[in-house]
Amino acid sequence: MSPPRTLVSRRTALRTVIAGAVGVGPLGCTSSSSSEVSAARLRLAAETSSAGGCPLHRGGERFDQPHSKRDGREFPKAPVKESVEVAIIGGGPSGLCALHALQGRDAVLLEKEAHLGGNCTSDSWEGVKFSTGAAFFTAGDTALVELMSSIGAPALPIAGGDVLVVGGEPFHDFMGDGARRLPFEPSVREAFRQSAASASKLRRAVPESELDAQSFADFLRPYPAELRQFWDRFGASNWGAGAEHTSARLGLSAYGWLRGDEEGRLSYPGGLGAAATALGAHLSVALPGRVRTSTFTHELELEANGRSVLIHTLSHGEPHTIRARRVIVAVPKFFAERLLPQVGADQRAAMRELRYTPYPVFNVCLNDVGPELAYDSWFLDAPFCDVIPADWVLYAGRGPRPRKTVLTVYHPLPEGQRAHLLDDERLVAMADDVVLYLERHFPGLRSKVAETRVYRRGHALPIPAPGQLARAALASRPFGPIAFAHSDSRGDVSAFAGAQRAAEQAVAALD
Ligand SMILES: Cc1cc2nc3c(=O)[nH]c(=O)nc-3n(C[C@H](O)[C@H](O)[C@H](O)COP(=O)(O)OP(=O)(O)OC[C@H]3O[C@@H](n4cnc5c(N)ncnc54)[C@H](O)[C@@H]3O)c2cc1C
Repeated sequence: MSPPRTLVSRRTALRTVIAGAVGVGPLGCTSSSSSEVSAARLRLAAETSSAGGCPLHRGGERFDQPHSKRDGREFPKAPVKESVEVAIIGGGPSGLCALHALQGRDAVLLEKEAHLGGNCTSDSWEGVKFSTGAAFFTAGDTALVELMSSIGAPALPIAGGDVLVVGGEPFHDFMGDGARRLPFEPSVREAFRQSAASASKLRRAVPESELDAQSFADFLRPYPAELRQFWDRFGASNWGAGAEHTSARLGLSAYGWLRGDEEGRLSYPGGLGAAATALGAHLSVALPGRVRTSTFTHELELEANGRSVLIHTLSHGEPHTIRARRVIVAVPKFFAERLLPQVGADQRAAMRELRYTPYPVFNVCLNDVGPELAYDSWFLDAPFCDVIPADWVLYAGRGPRPRKTVLTVYHPLPEGQRAHLLDDERLVAMADDVVLYLERHFPGLRSKVAETRVYRRGHALPIPAPGQLARAALASRPFGPIAFAHSDSRGDVSAFAGAQRAAEQAVAALD
């Protein structure tokens, strides 16, 4: 079967694959015996789940090949059988945007997973599409808005703002006038409003590079615990870190997101996974044979002439080597560093210093309508950060009743808990905690739960710690004919639009 037909047929199969992989669980297990062990553990875990015995589905990235590389495995190399002008490594938004920008040139995109989209992925349950990663972008990201419209996949507006949920009650405009209604001490209510004004003053007064070197926690220190708690959660969900590990540059700018300084938010049923899927499908049809999934790159070898690169891959398990005159590396730097044995020590150190958050996303599938307080509801005392009703973009909480719905629960973990993602029983327990918390605040919800799906990522969002701008710039410095895309190249909050801008910079660096 030719690659484009495979991909076109995979557009439907993609959801099935993702859903199938999510459903049976043992992604990353290559032998049938380990699959059986995992499946058995999953069944056991589901049977013993305390949240009403709801089956737990889980899935996520393939861990086996990257982990083997990390552990020093030598992968087989094949003689060069193919030459291209440009090879793009990684089929997340930045890789896809790079390929889109390179239409008309001799370019290929190599993605290790069977599906495209990186951290922008979707799944569906009983016809309800939901996000397993990225949620929305803003109308202010005009280049992205235009790109999606140009491929016939315009995004839908998201109605309304976020709410802060305290004791089961939603509070709107909680950083503005709505703060007056928060069920806190007057001094705490005032801090929510007043800190927003100070943040915007400081942003105008202090140069960006100075703010980037400082911690957001220093700004928040004089304020009450409730405000710091909120930002720890908002930051963890949006950029993978609480205030202590966030630069003041980013934290202060995020006040603007909540006050609605940004232009309207946009999304799709299924979140930004739908955008990545549409872009991937468009490119697969427009550029037959150029988009290659299940192709793991394990080494980039700069040739002695310094002008071309050998890309050593395992494509569908078989060694395949491509010679390229230019390469765009659109994978996260913690892994890019392992692909490039020849990169200089300072750049390697900068790549290693970038930090990433482990991030499971839980999707709670409900046989009926659940709480639909706002597009994004934030919680101060939950085991997770926030919840998005998956079909909000269609119904804004006013859809037909009864109907099946899904709640997407964002549950980032501290970096020290990365190994929890490989622990089935722990994931089951976390899913239980999610449902039980929701039941406490929204009585009756537990009886509606059909299943919970978990999508786990070991290194999801690059953490914008103080000093991130300089670190990201050094880590992303072009290396001979190799340019770097990926959203972690910009030292910014990791976002689809950031991935697109990183791709544009990498494409520009090629010529
Ligand atoms: C839970 C969550 C919520 C988010 N919410 C939002 C949001 O609301 N709005 C927003 O704009 N952004 C959001 N983001 C961020 C957004 O998903 C990312 O910024 C975006 O996916 C980055 O795209 P990328 O292409 O730079 O990288 P990635 O998405 O990381 O893609 C990298 C790709 O490279 C592939 N790859 C890695 N190693 C190899 C290899 N050796 N060989 C071949 N392929 C390889 C990976 O499989 C992957 O497909 C969220 C992210 C997460 C995790």
